Amino acid sequence: MAEVKHSSNFIQNIIEEDLKQGKYPEGIHTRFPPEPNGYLHVGHAKSICLNFGLAERNHGLCNLRFDDTNPTKEDTEYVDSIQEDIRWLGFSWGNRMFYASDYFDKLYDYAVELIKKGLAYVDDLTAEEIRAYRGTLTEPGKESPYRNRSVEENLDLFGRMKAGEFPDGAKVLRAKIDMASPNLVMRDTVIYRIAHAHHHRTGDKWCIYPMYDFAHPLSDAIEGITHSVCTLEFEEHRPFYDWLLDSLGFDPMTRPRQIEFARLNLTNTVTSKRKLRQLVEEGYVSGWDDPRMPTISGLRRRGFTPAAIRNFCEEIGVAKANSLVDAQMLEHEVRADLNEHADRVMAVLRPLKVVITNYPEGQEEWLLAENNPMHGGQRFVPFSREIFIEQEDFMEEPPKKFFRLRPGGEVRLKHAYIIKCDEVVKDEAGNIVELRCTADLTSKTGGATANRKIKGTIHWVSTKHALPAEVRLYDSLIETDENGNVPEDFLGALNKNSLEVLKDAKIEPSVKLTAAGTHYQFLREGYFVVDPDTTPERLVFNRVVGLRDSWAKVQK
Ligand code: ATP
Ligand code: MG
Repeated sequence: MAEVKHSSNFIQNIIEEDLKQGKYPEGIHTRFPPEPNGYLHVGHAKSICLNFGLAERNHGLCNLRFDDTNPTKEDTEYVDSIQEDIRWLGFSWGNRMFYASDYFDKLYDYAVELIKKGLAYVDDLTAEEIRAYRGTLTEPGKESPYRNRSVEENLDLFGRMKAGEFPDGAKVLRAKIDMASPNLVMRDTVIYRIAHAHHHRTGDKWCIYPMYDFAHPLSDAIEGITHSVCTLEFEEHRPFYDWLLDSLGFDPMTRPRQIEFARLNLTNTVTSKRKLRQLVEEGYVSGWDDPRMPTISGLRRRGFTPAAIRNFCEEIGVAKANSLVDAQMLEHEVRADLNEHADRVMAVLRPLKVVITNYPEGQEEWLLAENNPMHGGQRFVPFSREIFIEQEDFMEEPPKKFFRLRPGGEVRLKHAYIIKCDEVVKDEAGNIVELRCTADLTSKTGGATANRKIKGTIHWVSTKHALPAEVRLYDSLIETDENGNVPEDFLGALNKNSLEVLKDAKIEPSVKLTAAGTHYQFLREGYFVVDPDTTPERLVFNRVVGLRDSWAKVQK
C-alpha cells in the first residue's frame, strides 16, 4: 500500500499544543458522526480521514457515532453502508460504535437538569412564530410569552411532552439564554421537539427527540471526546456548544472542544446527501453505487482505491476557508496508485478485424508480455492469423502525424510483429469491415528485424482467443460552468452522455477468471476495474480513469 504522508494542519497543531500542556491525560479522542440518512460521499471521506487520522497519529481513539436524532429520515440500510465504507477506506473504530439514540435517556435527564437550573423552558409558540420572534442579524429577537414559566410548570409540561400528551409541533423545549444575542443560535435555541415517529432503533419509545445542537455536544461529552472536529457551518453553533457543556457542569479543562474546518467541495461534483438522494430516488442513476456517483460506494465501484482517496485527503490538507478543489487531483491520485499496482493487459474496445495473410492458418503462438513495469511478472498472450485492433488505430486517409496503421503503412503490434496494411475490405455500405495485412515474420522480440524502427505501436487481441466484454465509459454526471461549479438547478444540468456502453469489446484471455474489483491497465486505453455485474460468461469493466493526467501537467 502506498505510504500516506502526513502533512501538518492547524488541528494537529492545536492537539500537539494541548498534549504539551498535559490537557488530556487520557489521550486524544475524536469521532466521526454521520447522520444515517444517506450514503457517504467523498466529502465525508475527508472528515473520516481527518478524524481517524488525527486519532491514529496521536495514539488516540476515534469513535463512529451515528447521529440518529431525526427518526423520519434514517434507515438501517444507511447504517450498514456507512460502516462498510469506513472499513473499506481502511479505518477501524474498534468496539466503539455508538448511536446518539443510545443516549436518549441521559439526554432527557440533562434537559431536566437544565430546566431545574432555570436554563430551559417549554414554549407553546408555533415554529413559524418562533422564527418570527427570533429576529434577524440586524434586529434583536423578542422574548416568547412562555419564557418565564416556573421551573415546576416546565418540568410538568416537559414530562407530559414525553408522555405523549401533545401533538407534533404543539410545544418545544428551548434553552433560555439571550434573545438579544448577536448570535442567532444563542437566542433560545430549540433543544427538544415533539415527533410521534418510529425510530430505527428506539422504536416507539420516544415521541420527543433532541435537536442536533443539544444532542451533539452532550454525545461528545458522554463519550469523552476531546476534539470535536466539524465543518465550518457549525462555527456559529460553537458558543452554544460551550454554553451547554458549561451550564451542565462539565470540567472545562477536559470537556470536548469544537474545532471547525472547511468542507470539501470538488469541481463537477455534487456533495450534498439531499441532492444525491434525489438522483437515486428519481432514477437518474442506477443506485447509490452508480460509478458516476461521488458516493464512496460509487467511487469504489468505479474503481477508485482507498489509498488514492486517503492520499488525496492528505494532499488537499485542512483549511479554515472554503474552496473548490479540482476533481482531477483525485484522479491524479487514482492514476498514481493504479500505475503502480494494476497489471497491464490488452483489450480492444471498438474492434476491427485484421487478417495476417502470410501467417499460417491454424497456427498460434504464445508470446511473453510484461505485467507491470514496476513489479514485473509476465504472462503469455496468444497470437494467431486473425486479430482485432482498435478501429481508431486505422485511417484510410490519415492526417500527417498519424503514426498508426494506414493503407500501405506499417505499425508494430505490441509484444508481437510489425504488420503492413495491404488491403482494406468494405461492406456494401462502404464501412471498413476488415484489413488484410502481412507481417514481418522476423520482427518479434529476438528476431532479425526486431529492432527495425517503426513509429507507431498498437495493441491487439487474437480473435480466436478473445474474451467478449462489456466496457462502460463514464463522464461527469453534471455539466458545470468553466470553473467546475455545479449549478443550483443540478437536475437541469445532467450530462446526457455521462455513460457510454461498449458491448463488443475484446480482451486477451489472461483475465479469464478475474473477479469484481480487480484493476487493470488496458494498454493505451486507461485504467479499468471489473464490475460486480461480471459473470463467468460475460466480463463487465468500468473505466476508472484515462491515462492522461492533466493535473500532473498543471503541477509542473
Ligand atoms: P450533507 O451536507 O451532504 O447532507 P451532512 O453534513 O449533513 O452532509 P453528516 O452525516 O452530518 O452529513 O456528516 C457527517 C460528518 O461529515 C460531519 O461531521 C460533517 O461535517 C462531515 N462532512 C459532511 N460533508 C462534508 C464535506 N463536504 N467535507 C468535509 N466534511 C464533511
Ligand atoms: Mg449533518
